[in-house]
Amino acid sequence: MVDFSIDPAFQAKLDWMKDFVREKVYPLEYLYDYDKDAPYDIQNKPLRKLIRRLQRDVQEQGMWAAHLPSHLGGQGFGAVKLTYINEQFGTSAFGPVIFGCQGPDSGNSEILAMFGTDEQKERYLKPLLANDIFSCYAMTEPQGGSDPTNLRTTAVRDGDDWVINGDKWFASSANHAAFIIVMAVTNPDEAPHNRASMFIVPTDTPGFEIVRAIGLFSDEYRSGGHPWIRFTNVRVSDRQRLGPVGQGFKVAQSRLGGGRLHHAQRTIGRVKQMIDMMAERALSRESYGEVIANRQAVQMDIANSYIEYQQFRLLVLYTAWMFDARQEHGREGRKMISAVKAAMSKIAQDVTLRALHLHGSIGLSNEMQFSRHLAIALHEGVADGVTELHLASVAKQLLRDYRRAEGDFPSDVLFRRKAWAAKQIQPLLEECGVTLAEGRADPEWNPPREGRGET
Ligand SMILES: Cc1cc2nc3c(=O)[nH]c(=O)nc-3n(C[C@H](O)[C@H](O)[C@H](O)COP(=O)(O)OP(=O)(O)OC[C@H]3O[C@@H](n4cnc5c(N)ncnc54)[C@H](O)[C@@H]3O)c2cc1C
Repeated sequence: MVDFSIDPAFQAKLDWMKDFVREKVYPLEYLYDYDKDAPYDIQNKPLRKLIRRLQRDVQEQGMWAAHLPSHLGGQGFGAVKLTYINEQFGTSAFGPVIFGCQGPDSGNSEILAMFGTDEQKERYLKPLLANDIFSCYAMTEPQGGSDPTNLRTTAVRDGDDWVINGDKWFASSANHAAFIIVMAVTNPDEAPHNRASMFIVPTDTPGFEIVRAIGLFSDEYRSGGHPWIRFTNVRVSDRQRLGPVGQGFKVAQSRLGGGRLHHAQRTIGRVKQMIDMMAERALSRESYGEVIANRQAVQMDIANSYIEYQQFRLLVLYTAWMFDARQEHGREGRKMISAVKAAMSKIAQDVTLRALHLHGSIGLSNEMQFSRHLAIALHEGVADGVTELHLASVAKQLLRDYRRAEGDFPSDVLFRRKAWAAKQIQPLLEECGVTLAEGRADPEWNPPREGRGET
């Protein structure tokens, strides 16, 4: 049975969280510079102190690292409860760090837990879970990210070491990370999906450099948290390899599903905030003697946004429920995650644009934050796989359950269906002692003979 219910004890936690986010977390957003990655800036000691203080509140409430199972220091809430949690800080830049579930650390902690050695867990996973350090995940390269079988970064075995060379791009948080999980080609002669392996590279390793700070288009030029990075003869020991040689894709795959769901859960909250802003604006702005809320075009934008919001929220909840109920990571899970991912980018973009437009000039001004909201909405269609790939994946998984039609006509062509229906209903007619003619039915007694042009 599909069940999205919230028990009273958990509802109390959500109520606490709602107030806490509004009163303690949101103030940080308006005061500290997100262009400079404030939530991740481990060097900003005074801000770090504030963050640590708020993190303690979260830990005391038992809401820390809510995405993780209890044996990894999380709460073991499962995906449905996590949806209710993540939607609370949809628009918040600081929320994920204060609640201990920020990407890419959340996905990195999952693969360290799944594939890491005891030594790797002690050295990297433990401090990551305690938020003493941040991490980065580097897969995309400047020449293209949609097809990771085109990776050019290599790791070549040299005795007990591996020597890594290559550039990575949009490596989120690399500028604040203590270590980077990097995917590199180790087996160039194998089949495309067995060519790469994962390595943990501490950022103080000689040969690692940040080529340039890259941000979203809403960030200041030469700032932002998605740098272009370079590995020049970076040497790591084989003990730094994460997972088996040649299995980089498998490791990568296991971190993406959860991360995409977390993004979608936060998108629910962001879309809701856009609707709240639209509603306030519609009731506050007058044009030709009436509030614009009375204009049908405005009403349609608000109503469509609300309907799409409810549909999307239910899609995410259903996918989360499926993960909880069936531990679904197979074909059905892949299909639903791709469906959620594609739907997320569409709703985020559509509703953000409507909200911006409804705010007119101030919406486009630098007195509001729509450029950031829009950049984040557009990012949903690119990061973690572009929309086209996810739609293709949904279609591929779906089509596996279907077969081509027999003959040259669709199965549902009326002359076939009517002929079939007449035969099918015959026993029921006999039982009831009636005929098709008496009931004025329109069967097909002589359907055309189907053939491929034979006479
Ligand atoms: C904010 C943000 C954060 C990111 N963080 C990280 C990170 O931490 N680590 C990391 O490794 N990467 C990260 N990325 C990179 C992200 O994974 C890539 O941007 C993504 O995989 C797409 O690759 P690309 O940018 O090279 O676009 P391309 O692969 O060049 O694609 C561009 C466009 O081409 C079209 N296209 C491409 N391939 C196909 C196809 N097969 N079918 C149909 N159309 C296609 C689509 O329209 C697509 O939008 C991040 C990206 C963003 C925006």
